[in-house]
Amino acid sequence: MSGTITAERMHHALERICEVVEEQKTYLSELDGAIGDGDHGVNMAKCFREVKKKLGTNQGKDLQSILKDVGMVVLNSVGGAMGALYGTFFLKLAQEAAGKSELRLGDLVRMLQVAEKGVLEIGKAKPGDKTLIDTLSPAVRSLEQAEKESKSLAEALADFQEAARKGMESTKDMVAKMGRASRLGERTVGHQDAGATSCYLILQALTKGLTQL
Ligand code: ADP
Ligand code: MG
Repeated sequence: MSGTITAERMHHALERICEVVEEQKTYLSELDGAIGDGDHGVNMAKCFREVKKKLGTNQGKDLQSILKDVGMVVLNSVGGAMGALYGTFFLKLAQEAAGKSELRLGDLVRMLQVAEKGVLEIGKAKPGDKTLIDTLSPAVRSLEQAEKESKSLAEALADFQEAARKGMESTKDMVAKMGRASRLGERTVGHQDAGATSCYLILQALTKGLTQL
């Protein structure tokens, strides 16, 4: 892949996210069913079906507009926490992409740092609380590290995806402190968090979409 990300490539990656969420909706609801109310896959699929429709109308727009469209749809299409959390994630990515026609690794790092901060502020979850933050935060740390080590965009994204996967898996050993699952306390140990899993699937699809056109 080249050293930069264009709007076209980002659009393609966002379409990949929609496909993966649809494919994995049953799995996500099963994970949520073990320690929550079993609707995570349904919520996510409903939301990303709307995103897919939007993406059918905004090809050719600039990076900020495409990401903002996605953020607005996510924010408005799912009730409750998920819409606000993932909506904020995409809207913050959009905000930091303002005025850029291509993204370098440094731009992507800044965008993800701001998106992570937004999700932390709105959800008030901390690392270790067994939420999607436990996937997102280590992935962002890994991208920062890759930038410090002057890795290529492709290498950095491979590290990013791997850190996200490890983060998702780390939620198995955690006690849920946020959301519905927190009511079960210690009984949540041994179960991988549904939101951490959807976050991994999103970041993995993003990585794949950005690296292979
Ligand atoms: P609900 O809990 O309303 O049924 P979902 O099932 O769609 O919504 O989402 C559950 C997921 O939301 C959890 O697995 C967890 O990862 C994530 N989550 C819940 N509360 C927070 C929060 N405050 N910050 C970040 N993520 C959260
Ligand atoms: Mg649920």
